[in-house]
Amino acid sequence: MNIHEYQAKELLRRYDVLVPHGRVVFTPDEAAHAARKLGGPVWVVKSQIHAGGRGAGRFLDDSSDKGGVRVVKSIDDVRASAAQMLGKTLVTRQTGPAGRVVRRLYVEEGCDIARELYLGILIDRATSRITIMASTEGGMEIEEVAARTPEKILKVAIDPASGIQPFHARRLAFGLGLSGKQVGAATRFILSTYRAFTELDASIVEINPLVVTGSGDVMALDAKFNFDDNALFRHPDIEAMRDESEEDPAETEAARHALNYVRLDGNIGCMVNGAGLAMATMDIIKLHGAEPANFLDVGGGATRERVTTAFRLILADPKVEGILVNIFGGIMRCDVIAEGVVAAAREVGLTVPLVVRLEGTNVDLGKQILRDSGLPIVSANDLADAAAKVVAAVRATQKKGGK
Ligand code: ADP
Ligand code: MG
Repeated sequence: MNIHEYQAKELLRRYDVLVPHGRVVFTPDEAAHAARKLGGPVWVVKSQIHAGGRGAGRFLDDSSDKGGVRVVKSIDDVRASAAQMLGKTLVTRQTGPAGRVVRRLYVEEGCDIARELYLGILIDRATSRITIMASTEGGMEIEEVAARTPEKILKVAIDPASGIQPFHARRLAFGLGLSGKQVGAATRFILSTYRAFTELDASIVEINPLVVTGSGDVMALDAKFNFDDNALFRHPDIEAMRDESEEDPAETEAARHALNYVRLDGNIGCMVNGAGLAMATMDIIKLHGAEPANFLDVGGGATRERVTTAFRLILADPKVEGILVNIFGGIMRCDVIAEGVVAAAREVGLTVPLVVRLEGTNVDLGKQILRDSGLPIVSANDLADAAAKVVAAVRATQKKGGK
């Protein structure tokens, strides 16, 4: 799960990480009021969307070359900037060309920046360790730094047995070229951010930029958190920060029904039980020259209700031109699954070719049910057969001129 910058800063503040004062607002008047309360002379009006690159982003249908983060010097400009941004679509390197609608803003006090640095904490799967990354190239995307000047990224992996030690943080502070009281400030900053990362079950924390101010303070000017969904039950206060308008509605609906659904770019909808089988199904679709439209694991107990919801999710994606159902009846019997598929197909209304591959307990009975349904369901015998059939069916409809 992701949260907004202002929420991330609220969490960091709880861990005594230094962040500028700011207020979240939803209207231009609220923005002006917030600026007055914060006091001047400089404010920054920041679009809150679940994507980075806002400063360098541009609004759709806006010919000015102003971005999603604006430094302004009067209350009137705070109000005007807010009016120009709210309700508009911001396109950044991370949003894709469709962009995201800005529905809330963060009005923050302007900061006197002496240096912009980068700090990231993540779980490095290669070493199975929480790894802290730092770089002098603050403000730039870390992927870009990694590609162009990888030597500018400092990394410290933390041994889970000992946890973080002050020397880890000091090593990074010195590596960033800090000196004097900045070393102590940066060390405290890194130790506190690390504590937030572990205690809040985050999977990524990114502070970009981390700044040294004119007076030598070390402060987070931007903040991003990703959380491990499997640990959210331990953090109801973070769960409450969820902004559904920033999430894919299909994925939200899937989560409500405990379905594991991830939307992808292809045109073949997949409904599979078990994550491993789902991965194999996506692989074999690609092997047959097509692309999956989604990852969807309906789980072990593929009931009629869940199968129906899954169908609805898949068909709601306008890119889907064919569906491949690949279910192994182990704990669930194939005849029960077949009944679920038939009922769901009837209820939802099939608009694209459907290929079903069943295997496991009562498979013959299951196939019989599919045949007797009177629905145009194509039965497949194995994984390769299923992939070949669904790809062929999609190509045949494409030739005929669409679904
Ligand atoms: P994004 O990464 O989405 O572009 P940031 O929050 O990093 O958004 O802001 C972009 C840039 O705007 C920062 O690198 C920094 O130079 C400037 N900026 C952001 N917040 C402030 C602030 N409170 N005071 C001064 N400058 C800021
Ligand atoms: Mg940033």
